[in-house]
Amino acid sequence: MSPSLNPILDVIIIGSGIGGLVTATQLAAKGAQVLVLESYLIPGGSSGYFERQGYRFDVGASMIFGFGEKGTTNLLTRALDAVNVTQETITDPVQIHYHLPNKLNIKVERAYNKFLQHLIAYFPHEEIGIRRFYDECWKVFNCLNSIDLLSLEEPRYLLRTFLQHPLACLGLVKYLPQNVGDVARRYIKDIQLLKFIDIECYCWSVVKADMTPMINAGMVFADRHYGGVNYPQGGVGQIAQKLVEGLEKAGGQIKYQARVTKILIEKGKAVGVQLAGGQVYHAKRIVSNATRWDTFTKLLPVGKIPANEKKWQQTYKKSPSFLSLHIGVAAAVLPRSTECHHIILEDWENMTAPAGTLFVSIPTLLDPELAPEGYHIIHAFTPQLIDDWREMSASEYEAKKEAAAWQIIDRLEKIFPGLDAGLDYLEVGTPRTHQRFLGREDGTYGPIPRRKLPGLLKMPFNRTAIPGLYCVGDSTFPGQGLNAVAFSGFACAHRITVDLGLSNGKCQHLD
Ligand SMILES: Cc1cc2nc3c(=O)[nH]c(=O)nc-3n(C[C@H](O)[C@H](O)[C@H](O)COP(=O)(O)OP(=O)(O)OC[C@H]3O[C@@H](n4cnc5c(N)ncnc54)[C@H](O)[C@@H]3O)c2cc1C
Repeated sequence: MSPSLNPILDVIIIGSGIGGLVTATQLAAKGAQVLVLESYLIPGGSSGYFERQGYRFDVGASMIFGFGEKGTTNLLTRALDAVNVTQETITDPVQIHYHLPNKLNIKVERAYNKFLQHLIAYFPHEEIGIRRFYDECWKVFNCLNSIDLLSLEEPRYLLRTFLQHPLACLGLVKYLPQNVGDVARRYIKDIQLLKFIDIECYCWSVVKADMTPMINAGMVFADRHYGGVNYPQGGVGQIAQKLVEGLEKAGGQIKYQARVTKILIEKGKAVGVQLAGGQVYHAKRIVSNATRWDTFTKLLPVGKIPANEKKWQQTYKKSPSFLSLHIGVAAAVLPRSTECHHIILEDWENMTAPAGTLFVSIPTLLDPELAPEGYHIIHAFTPQLIDDWREMSASEYEAKKEAAAWQIIDRLEKIFPGLDAGLDYLEVGTPRTHQRFLGREDGTYGPIPRRKLPGLLKMPFNRTAIPGLYCVGDSTFPGQGLNAVAFSGFACAHRITVDLGLSNGKCQHLD
């Protein structure tokens, strides 16, 4: 059959998280025939939304990096630009307001010097160490921010980038195997301050500084003061909606309620997928935006997990899921000058324990349109293990949810007195909810190292051991977070572009 009559698509993407959608839009913009298959009703996965009684809640993410206007690390801005769509954003002046043990009450201001001043005011004896540590994070960021972030699996790109930016590349090679804890201890001795660096990492990597790769920290600790944290007007769900709009404009397709149950393998190569309803689609390349656990244990034949995936599972484990409270509350409850994002921890010992660190986002402080007039949204979430939520009757489950929710509300009351009395709406999601609606095994937030690893060196890229099958999203390099999975999407699309011989908007050769 000639290529023009061949019904085989170029690329099928399983899942419409930001990783999947960035891959899809990048490929569609280059002329590939792309089909995204999404099991849920709307796109976005962990960066989706839901509406109840006039409130529009973000499912998960709401502290958004990657919407800056300059440099190369603003990957969400770039992904939208590539398919000619734009998204208004609202600048967040403070990344996080920390409420920590020993009355450590610190705001991470967007203005770098202000943040340093706050921190140095608590630890004046560590001024030099603080400056040196964060300056080193800037070095990582400056390297990243001077090169195009594409596939590290593409040798010609690596060579070209090295020739154009030799110092930046050497800098990144140096930091790739390093973790934050080692760098921090080089400059800082104060135990409380090291614990602060731990939570600075934990609140997005969900592991302490010793296990957090320096590359990721360089990105977060510098970009928050450079491109900044910017909230998408209309809610986080807008990012996926806009990417879908761009995908369709560029000729790509997306189908909802299309749950892939099988990746079809012929002669050892991934050639298509089968849906729960039995429909079959074929493509030259298959990309899974499901987690690696879901991809290799549920979508492929049992007992056929490639050896390197088994090894990966021995190196990384699933991080816990979350208990999430989506709250509607009278606006009067929040004091003036309340910030959008808070981290609450009463005892350092509990930082990584279930129900230890409490994450809080109040996006209506940036975009009031997300709630009825006179009300705010509060999304409060804390780590929880799915094992603690299994095997119980429906009534036991409801009772446990209610008890856990009130424990969180009691903690919030200490920061926002009157919250209980001002409650207008409350919905509670558990690890079971995350597993069910986000299609993520055990509702996991993503992979975390089982033991201390050499930085990001062990994190897999997009190609897999199965020819024709790629992974994208938070279980590929460089990990969790919207800007990180967008990086993974750029890299995945780049590798497929080369593998399919796509350039200048045309498919040059077919295999
Ligand atoms: C509570 C919470 C708070 C967070 N806060 C932040 C934050 O503030 N900032 C930040 O940057 N990040 C945050 N994150 C992390 C961020 O949301 C994720 O890292 C990122 O969204 C993951 O994107 P992804 O593309 O890997 O996949 P996902 O978002 O998991 O999307 C995968 C998609 O694939 C679909 N799918 C799965 N299996 C199938 C199948 N078999 N067939 C068809 N479709 C399938 C799913 O339905 C889903 O839509 C948060 C996450 C959570 C849970």
